[in-house]
Amino acid sequence: MSGVPADDVYTVLDVGGTTLRVGTYDPATGALSAVRRMPVDGMHRHPGTPVPALQRRVVDQIVREAGAHTGGRPPRALGVAFAGPISAAGLVLAAPTVWGLRGDPLPLGDLLTERTGAPAVVVNDLTAAAWRYAATEPGDFCLLTVSSGIGNKVFRGGEVLVDPDGHGGELGHWVCDPSPDAPLCDCGARGHLGAVASGRGVLAATRRAALADAAAFRGSRIAALCEGRVERIDNRAVAEAVRAGDPFATEVLRGTLTPLAQAITGVFTSIGVCRYILMGGFALAVGEPYRRLLVAELVRLGCFGLVPGDVDAMVSLGVADDDHGLIGVGRLLAERAPVPFSQGAS
Ligand SMILES: [Zn+2]
Repeated sequence: MSGVPADDVYTVLDVGGTTLRVGTYDPATGALSAVRRMPVDGMHRHPGTPVPALQRRVVDQIVREAGAHTGGRPPRALGVAFAGPISAAGLVLAAPTVWGLRGDPLPLGDLLTERTGAPAVVVNDLTAAAWRYAATEPGDFCLLTVSSGIGNKVFRGGEVLVDPDGHGGELGHWVCDPSPDAPLCDCGARGHLGAVASGRGVLAATRRAALADAAAFRGSRIAALCEGRVERIDNRAVAEAVRAGDPFATEVLRGTLTPLAQAITGVFTSIGVCRYILMGGFALAVGEPYRRLLVAELVRLGCFGLVPGDVDAMVSLGVADDDHGLIGVGRLLAERAPVPFSQGAS
């Protein structure tokens, strides 16, 4: 593409495992507008397709949608939040939910700069989300997402802490259950926090508990929501039951929060981050009861050097919308302007 760049706004994209979001970010006002959502042209839509072909499809889709968004003119800058680890050079190292577990690293930042004619920055989606909160958080914080998996990023001293090869922020793949029959993570390994304490992990734990104690299950609100059928339990029912104070659902959730609280105490005791922001579909669907239960677990375990009141102030809920990646990558671009854009940051 060539010609006059689009106005003084950025085109921002958020590429997840199922949904691609594209929007306009105005660095002068911080406003996000013209957001469109569509299925990602990756393995979710084309299961079984070889990884290199899926990589081509996804890159083509990003280029196409960025172009459609600005009427064919190159955007002033392009920011992409992407679901996978990214090197400091803008290399996508892996994309298990977008094009699968295998495949060579993809220089997405370079490819997009070349094909769109705009300086492109590619960052991990949770790194982008951390930049959203960096605008309002006065100090260091750790962002935790609890959805179908678990992820985290620590924001400290004006940057997200990861190493140049993209390691870090992967608490979801910390082994919290080393037993040989521990739940299977979507990365293929067993006993990872993301397999145990994610929305998917809580759902599996709820089903196990329902089968193990049929009487308690029958008397629970979850049973009422799924006609007493274990296979019909879903995360919506779990969240609704916990919100309603159902003891059965609450007890199951509490059990999965123990390893999550242990992970948090590990971060806290090792580097002293005192702010934890919870986001992700499952945590935010349960809402304040989720935060309260997690705080109770942190108080029970103890955060060395803190009193319970401090622990309560440590944990807060993020914004319950779908715009974290778009707003965050927009803010990151704004932060880097007017210095020349680098090709990426993890
Ligand atoms: Zn894992």
